[in-house]
This record gives sequence, structure tokens and C-alpha cells, in this order.
Amino acid sequence: MPNLQPEAPTTILIVEDNELNLLLFHDVLEGAGYNVVSTRSGLEVIRLVHEHNPALILMDIQLPVVSGMEVTRRLRLDETIDDMPIIAVTAYAMRGDKERVLRSGCSAYLSKPVRVPELLEAIRTQLSGDVAMASAV
Ligand code: MN
Repeated sequence: MPNLQPEAPTTILIVEDNELNLLLFHDVLEGAGYNVVSTRSGLEVIRLVHEHNPALILMDIQLPVVSGMEVTRRLRLDETIDDMPIIAVTAYAMRGDKERVLRSGCSAYLSKPVRVPELLEAIRTQLSGDVAMASAV
């Protein structure tokens, strides 16, 4: 008998304090077949990562209280999750901002406004075997 069990869906954690962006990302990712967990607070990220073990985090950088870069630095200190792909989403557009965000430990960088095809492509790239190569650059 062939195994007809569907594969367990891949879980993605969305960290985004803007309600409209959160709704958009949530709908797009669910529509693409991902299981979505989300939070509007950077302070909940580490707990949610341990609770849901996402395959990837979509991380807004501009968050109240604690920035996405600071959350990423804290995540990278945890050796059980230090290689989890983290895609930064940011409105920063200044020269050097991308480098700063990547230095904090993010694996990839998207600037707002995020286009849906670009978002899905970045997620697929990070979840695929190309990640090691991409992050080595
Ligand atoms: Mn924000």
C-alpha cells in the first residue's frame, strides 16, 4: 500500500507587530500550505520557538520593547535553535542596514513593502538545501 498520509505541514513563526502585515503574511503563508504561528511581541518569540519548533521565523525588525535584531541575537545564543532560518523583514533602507541585520544573525533580508512572490521564494530558498550556501556568502 502506498503511504497516503499527507506530510506534516511545515510550521513558520511570524513575528510582526503591525496588524495588517501580520494578517497578510498569515494568509499568504497558510494559502501556500504552511502551518502558521504568530506573535506581535518579540518577548514571546523564544517561548514560541520552544513550544512549536518552527522550521523558519519571519522576523519584523521594528518591534516595540525589543527589536527583531535583539530577539535574533538572543535566539542565536541558544544552541538548540542557533541554525534556524530567520528572514528579517524591515523598512530600513539605509546603506549598511542590511549588513547590520544580517550580522545580528538573520539568514536573509526582505525590505518592506514585501511582495508576495519574493516572500515565498525567500522562504523556499531558506527551507531548501541552498541555505548553507546562501548563508556562507
Ligand atoms: Mn513593526
